Amino acid sequence: MPIKRADKTPMPQRAAEERAKAFVEVNQGYTQYHAAFEAERCLRCQDPVCVDGCPVKIPIPEFMHAIAIGDMKEAAKILRTANPLPATCGRVCPQESQCEAECHLVKRFDPVGIGHLERYVADWERTQPPTVEANITRAEKVAIIGSGPSGLVCAGELARFGYPVTIYEALHAPGGVLRYGIPEFRLPKEILDWEIGLLKRLGVEIICNVIIGRTLTLDDLFGRLGFSAVFIGTGAGLPQFLRIPGENLNGVFSANEYLTRINLMRAFQFPDADTPLRVGKRVAVIGAGNTAMDAVRSALRMGAEQAMIVYRRSEKEMGARVEEYHHAIEEGVEFHWLHNPIEVLGDETGWVTGLRCQKMKLGEPDESGRARPILIEGSEFVFPVDNVVLAIGTTPNPLLVKTTPGLGTTNRGCLVAEEATGLTTRPHVYAGGDAVTGAATVILAAGAGKRAAQAIHRDLSRAAETAATAS
Ligand code: FAD
Repeated sequence: MPIKRADKTPMPQRAAEERAKAFVEVNQGYTQYHAAFEAERCLRCQDPVCVDGCPVKIPIPEFMHAIAIGDMKEAAKILRTANPLPATCGRVCPQESQCEAECHLVKRFDPVGIGHLERYVADWERTQPPTVEANITRAEKVAIIGSGPSGLVCAGELARFGYPVTIYEALHAPGGVLRYGIPEFRLPKEILDWEIGLLKRLGVEIICNVIIGRTLTLDDLFGRLGFSAVFIGTGAGLPQFLRIPGENLNGVFSANEYLTRINLMRAFQFPDADTPLRVGKRVAVIGAGNTAMDAVRSALRMGAEQAMIVYRRSEKEMGARVEEYHHAIEEGVEFHWLHNPIEVLGDETGWVTGLRCQKMKLGEPDESGRARPILIEGSEFVFPVDNVVLAIGTTPNPLLVKTTPGLGTTNRGCLVAEEATGLTTRPHVYAGGDAVTGAATVILAAGAGKRAAQAIHRDLSRAAETAATAS
């Protein structure tokens, strides 16, 4: 199909029937032809508002220009100065509501495919010998708790400033949600491993299987381990439940457990991998955010014959990225909007057999600004299902706060931290990402990690200058 200059160059994709039963990556990436054509669509505006829409402030027009003239080395260099996770962000960031939403072209046409081009450049860089090298010039050590995007980006930025950085991660592999939540068919783990590998080349040390608040306390990091500053990027990994009857039946999962078994523990490779996942023929996933979409599409790939989304609001209120929603429709996922689950039904052996729902209609907006779902009397019915997966949200895990005196939290259990710097209520302790905002996005977490790294650098530099003047 000829590409029109007004439209964003479409991302080549694997056919739905080919991909819906396998964990292979759906999006195939631009070719050089696509990339040059798309980069040429950038107007190189005097006032590049797209950069304001990017939480890590990628110099977008400069990197577009480098692609357009075929200088891939320069394009990769520009990207890497702003974002140590471009191959990841190019795949999973909601560009449509960030940089691309600001693009001047959207007034009349499609925006430039900034995200697709970010991915293209990062994938090109992956074919080249690595150019990043460690250059540790500072004596002060910085500890990072959690290896999700906020922690990784904070670490990368601090390493670029010359600090020795150690990341402590509770799980046995780094990456946070990028590792345990987002499936292989959207973000292949070899891509994540490559980006983390480059951070290690920059000198970042990653120590897994350490829970700060259990294995070590935050005060151990300052005390016996001698760190000068700490960044907390522990995310929001505690699943919420509906508190409806039957939620404890066998075959009911939180989306976190479901996806962790598949992604981190590689249940899709069972029995070659150790962890199994019992997937029934009919799977209902409750919720309509990115997590729900990943769970329902994974269910199909794990062998479910019928995989459905059950959501009490409408398509309009869905939180998932539009691209993921379209992919799910193409793959055969069913969508049951305006359905409110009220009970999980089971048999005498304790296994799920059905999901009792009520039908809803939409009313006036509620406190979240979204139309309030209202019950339609007498509309109860049962979906026969074998699995129910709850993807209705997560909150920060309270473990670290409970074991660390002086860390302030909001009434939603999020850490209190200054927006511009990430400074918490304890001196030299910074925080960012989902642990501060509640469940949000990869790029917002990355932006918070970057701002905190810059604030840590300012504070440690000031302290070093004061010490030098005093001596
Ligand atoms: P996380 O990624 O949650 O990482 C926190 C890390 O800290 C974890 O590895 C955890 O094990 C570790 N940790 C926690 N406590 C401790 C402790 N006490 N000691 C040591 N380590 C600890 N966003 C998008 O932009 N696009 C998407 O397509 C998208 N899809 C998503 C799909 C799913 C299934 C989920 C769950 C989320 C998705 N998101 C998406 C949201 C995005 O992944 C998160 O907003 C982002 O990962 C938050 O980053 P973070 O660094 O704050 O925390």
